[in-house]
Amino acid sequence: MNKSALFLDRDGIFNEDIGYLHRAENLIWKEGIFELLHFFKQRDYLLLMVTNQSGIHRGYFSFADFCDVSFYIQKTIKHKLQFHLDKIYFCPHTPEEDCLCRKPKGGMIAEAQRDFNINIENTLFIGDRWSDILAAREYNIPYKFWLNIHKEQQILQQGEHIITHLHDILSFFNKNICSNKDMFDNGA
Ligand SMILES: [Zn+2]
Repeated sequence: MNKSALFLDRDGIFNEDIGYLHRAENLIWKEGIFELLHFFKQRDYLLLMVTNQSGIHRGYFSFADFCDVSFYIQKTIKHKLQFHLDKIYFCPHTPEEDCLCRKPKGGMIAEAQRDFNINIENTLFIGDRWSDILAAREYNIPYKFWLNIHKEQQILQQGEHIITHLHDILSFFNKNICSNKDMFDNGA
């Protein structure tokens, strides 16, 4: 059976974006992240992180540092929610390396599609950068949520939503589920 999937950027979504985070002790969790993961896990979504980590090839921190932070994230989620992310995809390259995985390119989403049998019609992408939305567009991910903390100006297309808090995503889905139910009840 094809799986639904929730793609999440890391910095700015899981944790406050302090710039090249590479020590677990500096990680500040974003408010609402655990509720969000719980909500979609309950609905049997794959939980997939897709993160640009050019700090590795810029030499700001090592691959081992990145793994330590990833391990801490997984361990904390497991401790709080009794599950962990299905996979963490990362791009270590700088923009100059012109790789296929660095967002706004969709290489990491393509890799996830190869790894899991994902039904792209049931996918969401949550990011805080316009490059996240562009990567999601490349793979026709229907729901895109943009936590626009950087106050960028962009023209949104259908299915693209600006949010101010991670809770807004749960409100969006609860509202839609309710309105579907109302429609069904009225039509019966
Ligand atoms: Zn890359």
